[in-house]
Amino acid sequence: MNHEQSRSLYDRALSVLPGGVNSSVRATQPYPFFIERGDGGHVIDADGNKYVDFVMGYGPLLLGHDLPEQVQAAVQQHASQGPMYGAPTEVEVELAEFVARHVPSVEMTRFVNSGTEATVSAVRLARAYTGRDKIVVMEGGYHGAQESTLVEGSGADTHPSSPGIPDSFAEHTLTVPFNDEEAIHAVFEEHGEDIAAVMTEPILGNYGIVHPIDGYHETLRDLTEDHGALLIFDEVITGFRVGGLQCAQGKLGVTPDITTFGKIVGGGFPVGAIGGRSEIIENFTPAGEVFQSGTFSGHPVTMAAGLETLRYAAENDVYEHVNELGEKLRSGLTDIVADQAPNYTVVGTDSMFKTIFTREGPDGRDGHCEAGCKQRESCSRYDHCPKNGMDVKRTETDRWERLFWQDMKDAGVFLTANQFESQFICDAHTESDIETALEAYKAVL
Ligand SMILES: *Cc1c(COP(=O)(O)O)cnc(C)c1O
Repeated sequence: MNHEQSRSLYDRALSVLPGGVNSSVRATQPYPFFIERGDGGHVIDADGNKYVDFVMGYGPLLLGHDLPEQVQAAVQQHASQGPMYGAPTEVEVELAEFVARHVPSVEMTRFVNSGTEATVSAVRLARAYTGRDKIVVMEGGYHGAQESTLVEGSGADTHPSSPGIPDSFAEHTLTVPFNDEEAIHAVFEEHGEDIAAVMTEPILGNYGIVHPIDGYHETLRDLTEDHGALLIFDEVITGFRVGGLQCAQGKLGVTPDITTFGKIVGGGFPVGAIGGRSEIIENFTPAGEVFQSGTFSGHPVTMAAGLETLRYAAENDVYEHVNELGEKLRSGLTDIVADQAPNYTVVGTDSMFKTIFTREGPDGRDGHCEAGCKQRESCSRYDHCPKNGMDVKRTETDRWERLFWQDMKDAGVFLTANQFESQFICDAHTESDIETALEAYKAVL
């Protein structure tokens, strides 16, 4: 594979963009390949190399790179008519109605421009609504580039994970390991009166993929309710990906107070959203007192792309297709892993998947969950499969990133650049793409 164009573009980029990129995960070793264009479920780089694309923009692209006619038409119409006004438009109302119709916890939505903005606003809203300052997040959980959640440490002993954030931000952030019932009980016992909200992804997609153990979310739901705190599900990845239009909360049967969205809900354009019961969401200005505003919020092009993407998904069995391919890929991977790397764990659900390079596990094929780890207690691997973000961090992350990712790229398969982030199947992927991927895993693992 020739990468001369990408190399020379990276050379230029290093002079004018910090690290040569605009989002840190994109800086793959030794240098990233630059994308020229997308083609269905594939991307083509600046040197003309073609890859099966399982990155899908890190999640936003449910349909792949060739937007269906109705999505393209809506995007072009709104781009050419405006593109934006600083006054409301019908399409924002339609997308909010669509979300409220399908997502169990949502009556009202405030649209913003990124997942980060959504989680920042959700935390502010929860603090204002409860009159409390503390929030609880999962160790290693990711909620975007926001001051309150960029923390390290455990329990109340947390500090900022990045320079430039005053220690005082972390003072109000408590962490617990995901899936650890004892830890969350302990935190509520000690700080229950001061906790505004627990915020978590329903299924960890940025440090995993990690599925909740039986009853974990019910525990979070009960504890928050008992202590007058809110439960925030960050569904920026899982929203309109897991569980189809009802999102992960519908599939798991747990109703949070506030839900944050991003990624798919903007159909490939910059977006975020905060949804929930009217009684909570109406605390945002101008209905209430909690300041929230944005020049580009509810951008007509984004709203149109999101709405038509979701309508298309609803009308064309998109979730059936991507989930079936996901099941096929994960069960194929499970067989390969059982044969070639029995320590490793295949994870994922619906159209999300990953192989985690766990260091220990029982030998042989017995007990592997059939198509991705679901934290079944009866499984012989139950004690070995990652239960939380820190478990994933302790796996062979360098091997994954420096050897495995590179070899998969050379085999024409584009995966997310590190051990931690989820990979995605899109509507444009075919059985043949799944075969190609499985052949590559077989050769590389
Ligand atoms: C991607 C992501 C974010 C941040 O969204 P941006 O649009 O990148 O700001 C927040 N939370 C989760 C769970 C995410 O996956």
